[in-house]
Amino acid sequence: MKKTTLVFLAIAFLFYNCTDTPKTEKTTTTDKTSKNSIGLVIHGGAGTILKKNMTPEREAEYKAMLEKAAKKGYEILNNGGSSLDAVEQTIHILENSPLFNAGKGAVFANNGKNELDASIMEGKTLNAGAVAGVTNLKNPISAARKVMENSDHVLLARKGAEEFAAAQGLEVVDTSYFYTEARYNSLQRAKEGDKDKAAYIDPYIKDYKYGTVGCVALDKDGNIAAGTSTGGMTNKKWNRVGDSPIIGAGTYANNKTCAVSATGHGEYFIRAAVAHDISAMMEYKNMSLQDAAKEVIQNKLKNMGGDGGIIAIDVKGNLVAEFNTPGMYRAMVDEKGTITIGIYKDE
Ligand code: ASP
Repeated sequence: MKKTTLVFLAIAFLFYNCTDTPKTEKTTTTDKTSKNSIGLVIHGGAGTILKKNMTPEREAEYKAMLEKAAKKGYEILNNGGSSLDAVEQTIHILENSPLFNAGKGAVFANNGKNELDASIMEGKTLNAGAVAGVTNLKNPISAARKVMENSDHVLLARKGAEEFAAAQGLEVVDTSYFYTEARYNSLQRAKEGDKDKAAYIDPYIKDYKYGTVGCVALDKDGNIAAGTSTGGMTNKKWNRVGDSPIIGAGTYANNKTCAVSATGHGEYFIRAAVAHDISAMMEYKNMSLQDAAKEVIQNKLKNMGGDGGIIAIDVKGNLVAEFNTPGMYRAMVDEKGTITIGIYKDE
């Protein structure tokens, strides 16, 4: 080849690589990751969930409910609905099921009442709302959303939160709505049992676990949101409030980074500011969502003695479920609508 031809080819090569014209490959990637991507992750609590303690029927029940909730969320997102709507509606399904420790299936506090906590956050605006210790609201996640959208506040508690939600037109139920025999028996066992473990006995698994529900979602506009709802811990006293209604601990969402919903021993999640910490690692250390979640759950939280896990999504549609317990009820839905359900660690 002549020298001049070589020079020409080199210039052509450089020109091609320096122009702004996007290459097909790049465009496809950009579209897929930041424009058309939708996704959703849900959890139904983490803890000592072992296959040997589970009946096939019980397992099927949990999986069916997780699938129902995941499908609902995906349908909303796929029809162009907002991540906030997807989070709220998906959590309604879990709150209305007696299987999970939220809404209908909430655990009993030491005083024989069901005291519910919930929170929601929008990644686009960093707006957030939460309620704590409510006893008569059918769907606390909706009360949290009303606090976010229709009040000047972030967190309302107990009677005041109930009054606010009722005035907003949310469904108020008799406190007996939250009675389930299994949870009630669980409280009796907890009262009789080992004081240290009393808060965690689960009636279905007959072991120690948690059962909060949560959802994170990414919508077609590229906005993410997170929500969490719980009955807290069995046998809790003194109007104890866990991490679930605490923004930055149990729930966090920021369009710059990720949306997170947590479940586990709330006191540790509050002290480790788990949900915000994952976001901060992405923002300030440029870590990926997966690496940030792993660092916080498997190292930081575990070293403090805290057990539990999180689900998370980032604005590119990466889906994560990270937990340091033997199991976590969870489901992921990717942009094509493929649902992946898991309960135990190795699946
Ligand atoms: N984190 C919740 C709490 O401490 C409990 C749970 O996740 O099951 O109230």
